[in-house]
Parts: sequence; structure tokens; C-alpha cells
Amino acid sequence: MKYYSTNHQAPEATLEKAVVKGLAEDRGLYMPEEIRPLSKEFFDNIEQFSFQEIAFRVAQAFFGDDIEEEALRKIVDDTLQFDCPVVEVTPDIYSLELFHGPTLAFKDVGARFMARLLQYFIHKQGQDNRLVNVLVATSGDTGSAVANGFLGVKGIHVYVLYPKGKVSPIQECQFTTLGQNITAVEVDGCFDDCQALVKNAFMDQELNRQMLLTSANSINVARFLPQAFYYFNAYARMKAKGKADKLVVCVPSGNFGNITAALFGHAMGLPIHRFIAANNANDIFYQYLKTGQYEPKPSRQTIANAMDVGDPSNFARIIDLYKGDHQRISSLISGATYSDDQIRETMKKCFNENGYVLDPHGACGYRALSEQLQPGETGVFCETAHPAKFKATVEQAIAAEVDIPERLAAFMKGTKQSVACSKDYADFRNLLLNRQ
Ligand SMILES: *Cc1c(COP(=O)(O)O)cnc(C)c1O
Repeated sequence: MKYYSTNHQAPEATLEKAVVKGLAEDRGLYMPEEIRPLSKEFFDNIEQFSFQEIAFRVAQAFFGDDIEEEALRKIVDDTLQFDCPVVEVTPDIYSLELFHGPTLAFKDVGARFMARLLQYFIHKQGQDNRLVNVLVATSGDTGSAVANGFLGVKGIHVYVLYPKGKVSPIQECQFTTLGQNITAVEVDGCFDDCQALVKNAFMDQELNRQMLLTSANSINVARFLPQAFYYFNAYARMKAKGKADKLVVCVPSGNFGNITAALFGHAMGLPIHRFIAANNANDIFYQYLKTGQYEPKPSRQTIANAMDVGDPSNFARIIDLYKGDHQRISSLISGATYSDDQIRETMKKCFNENGYVLDPHGACGYRALSEQLQPGETGVFCETAHPAKFKATVEQAIAAEVDIPERLAAFMKGTKQSVACSKDYADFRNLLLNRQ
């Protein structure tokens, strides 16, 4: 399958090129040229299939032209070594728990899938001895998902750049204690400095002649498309409960990769009645739905910080998918926006009334459903991270303790290893060249 750019000024790319390059030459985002509907037989029987089987069928529709069946099955099985259950919170609202992967956040699936896909292409070209360097700047969650997704993958080395003293200790230990092919780079600066270092490295032609560099952020097709698996699985599990008739799916959104994957699912025939995009105080999409105007703003810091995005990169994909038809977009998707106080209040209320502990991101999703669900509809919201990842904030809101899962505790016992770097590009460049 070929991939085109949302800016339509770059040549079409193969899957391999789209994955290795990330962004098209015209700075647009890659889109698959075709979205293949799945069969009626598949939807009729979907509740009998496992998460892995469902994901394989979906992956075949996207990647089946480019990867042999057996290899693709292996990539899917290796990516999904955990479950993705729906849990009843109220009789009408269910939580789709996307946090059962290695770093307890939904980005694990995309990161792992991308790592395996990249490895597949390196191997296919017989370039096993060629080292691919993945650079990723993080303010917390992305770094841990990417580092764990790529951990131990042959032929790939990952550099995670993070701002010194500005990520939480729980987040930091998830990418600084791994060792092997993961190097944590502690930058004396802020997140924007980290991002600037990565950008400079990609634009440094001399450096790119000496080493193969690629990025693993959420604009990559191999990171965002596999998230569609979640929604087919959610539908299947709800169908098994007899609750799939008028399903409303609510996705707490930041860069809009996760909800865009859900919309791709819908375009492949997944019978979701409608969608809600829940925002924190960063309400750019909410405003777009209301006015038809897209006005990016600087991001605002909130307690749901993985959604602190003022110019969501996947907006371009949503516009492309619906050919810019605001009417169509706003009739399929509604919005919601919540302040930090509203998020705290929601965590508390849901815990007191239902005994369910939400994280600050999931809280936006739960609240949007509890306000907007119509009679006859059933709601499913994504719980995008385990509440223990935001332990202090959640405990303060619900006035109860949050247990730290085994997997997270294990990270915290590891030894922190990182390389210090200033925010000067020359320093970072030397660091890369000396570590080759
Ligand atoms: C990344 C992230 C989000 C936002 O997802 P997008 O795909 O960027 O919209 C929401 N919650 C958590 C916990 C995240 O890590």
C-alpha cells in the first residue's frame, strides 16, 4: 500500500519509507491511500475472537500488502502480550483500560509495533549489522513507552532526551533504568530544548551521512494506526455483553493520534454510533468543533499533562479523512473541555460513587460521557494511563491511597543511568558521534 502526504506536495511513499521517515518531505503526515472495510462475517463473529486475532485482522487490512502473513502475525502477537479489558464503572459507562502494557499507558502498543516493524524492514534488507538510531524527546510518557517498546530490539539504538528535573521520578525510572540499547540523555534545559536538539539532529546533513537517524513520535504511521486495534476489541467485548448497539466512544485527546486511529476503525466499518474527544484546558479541537476555525495556541500546563498540546499534530489527518467537511466532523464527533478543578472533582466523585479510580486523563473521558450520554446509548471511555502513574495527584483528589502495580515498582528499584548533556546542539552532536 502507498502512503500520501496530507499536504499533497510530496511523492507517495512505501510503508517502509513512511515508517523510517516519519514525516513526508512537504512536512505533511502520511495517510494510507486506501482504507479497506472489514467483512460482514468478521463483524458478525467478532465477539468470539481474541484481542490478538482481532488485531491481526485489522493489521492485515493496513499492512497485509507489505508484510507476509506469518511475519505480521508475529509482530502483532509480540506487541499484544497483555489484555485490554472493558470494565463496568456505571451501568451505562465502561472503562476501556489501555494501561496493561509494560509502562502502564496506551502508547505501549504503538511503540512496540513500530519497533517490530522497523526491525522487520532492517532484517528484510539484509542490513542487520546496520544500526538505526531512534531519537525521541519526551516530557514523560512518550519516552518510557518508546524505550520499553524498543528495548532489546537488535539493530536499533534509542536516545531518549528528557529535561533535567522536570519529569516525575516514576516516569524517569521507566527509561533511565533499562540499559541495553537505550540511552537516556538528561538535558540541562526544558522540554522544548530537548525537542530542538532532536530537530537539529534530523536537519544536520553531515550527521545524517554518518549515522541513520529516525524519530518515534506519534505522527509515525506505525505508531498511530495500531491503536485502531483497541477500538475493534472494545466493540467485540461490548458486543459480548449485549451492549454494543449504540456505542459512544470517548477518547481523552492531546495530539489526537489515538482518536484518529479510532476514526480509521469507523471508516473500516466498525459500528461505533458516535465519538467524543475529551480535552483538558487545551481546548483547540473543542473550539474547532464549535466554530469551524482551527486556531493553535501555546500549550497550557495541566494535571492531565500528556494532553497538554496546543497544536495537535493529527488534526491534519482528521481534516484529510473527512475532506475538511466541518459539518460531517462535528456531527460524528463532539467535544468537551475541563479545568484542573473539574478533573479533580471528577476523580473524587467517580471514586466515591462507583469505587473506580480514574487517572486525570481518563477522568476527562468519564466526565464527558456522564454529561453527554443520551438515553439508549452506552459509553466507553479510554482509561489511557494507570492512576499510579499520577499517584500524588490522584491520591490528593480521592483522599485514598493508590497501590503501585508490581511492574511499576520493579522500575523504581532499578539503577538510574543517564548521560548529561547541555542544551547546546554541538554537545549533543558530539555525544551521538562518540557513542557510535
Ligand atoms: C499520549 C496520552 C494521551 C493523548 O493521546 P493522543 O493520542 O496524543 O491524543 C492521553 N492520555 C495519556 C495518559 C497519554 O499518555
